[in-house]
Amino acid sequence: MEYVLETSALGKSYGHFKALNNLSMRVPKGSIYGFIGKNGAGKTTLIRVICGLQAPSSGSYSLYGKKNTEREIVKSRRRMGAIVETPAIYLDMTAEENMQQQYRILGLPSFDGIEETLRLVGLSGTGKKKSRHFSLGMRQRLGIAVALAGDPDFLVLDEPVNGLDPQGIIEIRELILKLNRERQITILISSHLLDELSKLATHYGFIDGGRIVREMSAAQLEAACRKCIRIEVSDTKPLAKVLDEMQLEYEILSDKEAHVFAKVNVSQLALALKKNNCEILSLHERDESLESFYMNLVGGSIRKEGV
Ligand code: ATP
Repeated sequence: MEYVLETSALGKSYGHFKALNNLSMRVPKGSIYGFIGKNGAGKTTLIRVICGLQAPSSGSYSLYGKKNTEREIVKSRRRMGAIVETPAIYLDMTAEENMQQQYRILGLPSFDGIEETLRLVGLSGTGKKKSRHFSLGMRQRLGIAVALAGDPDFLVLDEPVNGLDPQGIIEIRELILKLNRERQITILISSHLLDELSKLATHYGFIDGGRIVREMSAAQLEAACRKCIRIEVSDTKPLAKVLDEMQLEYEILSDKEAHVFAKVNVSQLALALKKNNCEILSLHERDESLESFYMNLVGGSIRKEGV
């Protein structure tokens, strides 16, 4: 697999405090990488470091295969757009003026593409309205448009849905999916909201105390959190036979217990087992929710609002 970003034992210290501590992560090309952790876990610090706004204290990282110590890292960074903390927009300018300003900063030869990008983020009709009068969601979308100047293929978004209302959250989510699917942009998105990330992410990096505690794909997370029924029977041999016949996925735990990973029609199962002289002794639904999975991984509590 090709990786847009790879970090190796990355460290960032403030005095004795390690904001990043031996952090190793890999963002696959084409992915939406959910970078998830509690407030203060180190998400913004990592983003600041990979954007070149801060130097690492130890370890290294590479962008498109170029190490942070190599000169060509500058070229890799040109392929990257980012919103760090808050969108970099001028409130006394219109959406179009903000875009033109960013084009000038990047030294782009013409203003071609501005209209199309504003249309893409749903801001083409805002005309003379200054961004000061935009809703928070519109400002965030303008921030994304500004980050898209220069056509990056790696977009880094730091908590992009923070403080947005439900409608604003949906708009940002749809925009991120569109950028990923239609423009093949790899996206790293940081958040403390796993539930929200789970609607988008193809890969996850869980960060706690400045280190990655787990990296996994969306399929692996889904498998870890899927619904499962723990069933106790008089004998698991006939149970296995019946479950095979019903084409249900299961895992035998002992000669009396098994996990069944599917929605089960209990009366149909009980009937089939009875025909095989097998009795159900107990049945419990076990549901490892995203939230409890996350809590087990990083400990402590999580905030639910985007604030
Ligand atoms: P949040 O969601 O609250 O922004 P985060 O995961 O982005 O959290 P960071 O902003 O990266 O966390 O901060 C990680 C830790 O580093 C925090 O404990 C923070 O107080 C500390 N920190 C960040 N910047 C500095 C700094 N310039 N000097 C000292 N400590 C800092």
